[in-house]
Amino acid sequence: MDCPKCQSPMEAVVYESFEVNRCTKCKGLWFDLREQEHLKALEGSERIDVGTSGEGAAYNEIGGIECPICRTLMIRMVDAQQPHIWYESCPTCYGVFFDAGEFRDYRERTILDLFKDLTAKERK
Ligand SMILES: [Zn+2]
Ligand SMILES: [Zn+2]
Repeated sequence: MDCPKCQSPMEAVVYESFEVNRCTKCKGLWFDLREQEHLKALEGSERIDVGTSGEGAAYNEIGGIECPICRTLMIRMVDAQQPHIWYESCPTCYGVFFDAGEFRDYRERTILDLFKDLTAKERK
């Protein structure tokens, strides 16, 4: 499978029992249906995101890409909790593409939220 953004080959990266694809050049990550949500819940899963945010930012501007699985035009999505995170989603097979650094960012917020929830409970 080739990267939908820079057309370089993607390699399989296995974390726990999940296999995701990572671009060998731009380090963007491809997740099949809901895999990003399962991975987000796993401790240490940000390690699969090896690229820097700087590398990702250069590719973030590229829009109108085709799904590498089913060739449908992907839709740009904005994360509801973190509007600075833009990712691409396939309306047909529901795969998603995160630029380098975005998955790490997406995940960090979860830990922060958990912490906020805990401190909120303590105040009650
Ligand atoms: Zn790429
Ligand atoms: Zn697709």
